[in-house]
Formats: sequence, C-alpha cells, structure tokens
Amino acid sequence: MKKILVSECLYGGRIVRYDGGEKAETDPIFLKWKEEGRLIAICPEVFGGLPTPRPDSQRVGEKVMSCKGTDVTKEYTKGAEEALRLAKENDVIFCVMKQDSPSCGSKTIYDGTFTDTKIPGQGLAVEYLRNAGFKVFGEEDLEEAAKYLAEKEE
Ligand code: SF4
Repeated sequence: MKKILVSECLYGGRIVRYDGGEKAETDPIFLKWKEEGRLIAICPEVFGGLPTPRPDSQRVGEKVMSCKGTDVTKEYTKGAEEALRLAKENDVIFCVMKQDSPSCGSKTIYDGTFTDTKIPGQGLAVEYLRNAGFKVFGEEDLEEAAKYLAEKEE
C-alpha cells in the first residue's frame, strides 16, 4: 500500500501546533487514508526540537525568524531534513501539508512582517520535499490528491 506523508497537526491526536491549538482534518478522504494506515505524520517544527507552544515564526528571506526576533533557521532546517528523511524512508507517493506554515505551507506562507499578510510561497520542509522530487498537495487539495493516488494504484 502506498504511503502518504502528512502534517501531524492534520493527523490529530497530538498537540503540535505553535499555538497549542487543534486542527485535525475531518474530510472523509483524509479519514479513509488514516483508517487504511497510509499516513506517516510529521511535525517538522517539533522534530526540529522546538517546544509546543512556541512563538509564531515566519520565513524572512533565507532565514526563519520568530516574532520575538530569534533566528530559528537551524531548528526549521533540522525539521525539514527530518521530513525529507521520513518521506524517503517510507517511500511515500506524495505529501499533504498544512497551508500557510513556515514549514508546511505549499502555496502560501506569511510574509515575514508579522502583520497577518500572506504571500505565495512554501514552507522550508515543503521546499526540501519538492527539491527532492516529492509531490506536495495542500490540505485543500484532497480530491486532487485522491485522484492522483487512484491513478498511481491502477
Ligand atoms: S510544523 Fe507543520 S505539522 Fe507542525 S504544527 Fe506546523 S503546520 Fe502542523
């Protein structure tokens, strides 16, 4: 059975979001994959050694900075490397990641000004995954992802 790498906050069951909030995905497509045992869940920020809750952070050029002015690029890079390692180890067919995150965003991220402004872009973990050739869908693209899976499993 083909495996899918997912953002752990979508998987649910363990609080990993920076604000300690819960954002588990409830779409039937996602829940079916979960029941089938296809999902490999990773939180790049927790795998990078950051605590929960943690300060809001955003990509700023080549760096990732917290809203308190701390450079957290090292932790985000470690998390991105762990996401890529798990994707390779599990030979995942694609990834489904939480939108807007500086790690997991696949279409949009915050612009680095901490003014609640989104811009087109991707998180660091998604950048690593895509650079290694992995296909990444956002959480809003589950139907497209399901079609892709069906094609690949024919
Ligand atoms: S790093 Fe990704 S998995 Fe972890 S809380 Fe943020 S969006 Fe979710």
